[in-house]
Amino acid sequence: MSEVRVRYAPSPTGPQHIGGIRTALYNYLFAKKNGGKIILRIEDTDQTRYVPGTEEYLIESIKWCGFDFDEGVHVGGEYGPYRQSERKELYKPYAEQLVKSGHAYYAFDTPEELEEMRERLKKTGNPSPQYNAAVRTYMKNSLTLSEDEVQKRLDAGEDYVIRIKMPRNEEIKVHDIIRGWVVVNSNQLDDKVLFKSDGMPTYHLANVVDDHLMKISHVIRGEEWLPSAPLHVILYRFLGWEDTMPQFAHLPLLLKPDGNGKLSKRDGDRLGFPVFPLDWIDPTTGEKSSGYREAGYFPEAFLNILAFLGWNPGDTREHFTLDELIEAFSLERVGKSGAKFDPDKAKWYNQHYLRLKSNEELAKIFMPYLQEAGYTGFSEEYVAQTCELLKERASFVKEMLDEGAFFFAAPTEFDQKTKEKKWKEDSAETLQKLSAEFENTAFQSDKLEEVFKAFLEKEGKSIGQVLPCLRLTITGKGMGPSMFHIMEILGKEESLKRIASGIQQLNG
Ligand code: GLU
Repeated sequence: MSEVRVRYAPSPTGPQHIGGIRTALYNYLFAKKNGGKIILRIEDTDQTRYVPGTEEYLIESIKWCGFDFDEGVHVGGEYGPYRQSERKELYKPYAEQLVKSGHAYYAFDTPEELEEMRERLKKTGNPSPQYNAAVRTYMKNSLTLSEDEVQKRLDAGEDYVIRIKMPRNEEIKVHDIIRGWVVVNSNQLDDKVLFKSDGMPTYHLANVVDDHLMKISHVIRGEEWLPSAPLHVILYRFLGWEDTMPQFAHLPLLLKPDGNGKLSKRDGDRLGFPVFPLDWIDPTTGEKSSGYREAGYFPEAFLNILAFLGWNPGDTREHFTLDELIEAFSLERVGKSGAKFDPDKAKWYNQHYLRLKSNEELAKIFMPYLQEAGYTGFSEEYVAQTCELLKERASFVKEMLDEGAFFFAAPTEFDQKTKEKKWKEDSAETLQKLSAEFENTAFQSDKLEEVFKAFLEKEGKSIGQVLPCLRLTITGKGMGPSMFHIMEILGKEESLKRIASGIQQLNG
């Protein structure tokens, strides 16, 4: 195989959602697996749809995931420029070459004339009229007008487009690595516009020309581009580049978690999970779309979520580092059918990576959440101890705060249900006695537990009568991590103070 060169080629028309980032990731994995390169090319030929900031957003997203491109707008490279608007001059000669070789033609039809054609065809029972082999024979183009007339119009600077002359009734075969052979009859394809008189190529021409000039070996992109592939194959042939045509792989669509259809931004809003890698604020409407990063996902988790959207390793492994993904990845193991997005699985991945983090690492991530909540003055060492207990019960760092705020402030509210069920006439007295026992105990969880058990024995009480009350005074909650570990972390002074003030408040 010649050098593997793949590209991710987004149009900057808005932030890339997880489908786009998955495409970038699969390109990256494929390139690295095969010792090749991945290129970032910005396809910004449609200036009317340009949304500022999306290029930067994409690069930041990719870096957050932990990978990057070998060539591209932000890093340069031998085949630049990598922004199509900066390559503008380069496309016209190819469009003209196609006209000269008889594979394309100038068309001068005005928007009104095109509309009139469509209306007329609709009336004759054609619901989706196209500018095709039949229509081109009677419209205003270089196939119907005389050479002189065409030249006159061009010289006069009249608006025109260059359209491909789609062959009639021909089987066009596209080989797709994931789907096998896809065959389309050319009669189903229209004479797509390749070049516009504003001097800009359309997506199809620019995409093919750039893939050729940038020596792209494999085109790996979303399934929504499969219908364009036959046109691209024809273009490679018409431009005389068939021998070096890239191989195609169209990735399965991402589907809604519930029901059918493509995953959309609205599904995320509706079902409460992020559809974007990072938060995005729309520059015109100010509307916010939430991202995985800000929702508290770890990049390691996000990477696995993406990797498994349409691919699997063929064994039971479920957690991969980026290097392990490179090692395991192949396009042959990418499925044909749509990949259903599963928000619960996404959380499960995060929980896995949260538990894998050392207490010290977690403490560093946890600290800013504490600050923001107004809990200041705690050492990283102390916070790390709390992480040891809290990480077992959380999927996200912010949940550790919901679960364990009592480590940073004495409770002021007490779980009502537990109080009703467990707080009895004699609970205050029992806890007072217990507190006296703790007074003389070294605050280590095993010692505390020993003393507690001996106390139960002596008093003839069960765990269920005493432990929930103790927990209530110290944490305000009915459930939580090991009580004696909590007390060890809080220390003697704080624990006993809480028991005393808890008793007062619960009795009051
Ligand atoms: N510019 C296209 C997009 O926005 C790229 C399609 C392709 O990869 O060929 O997705």
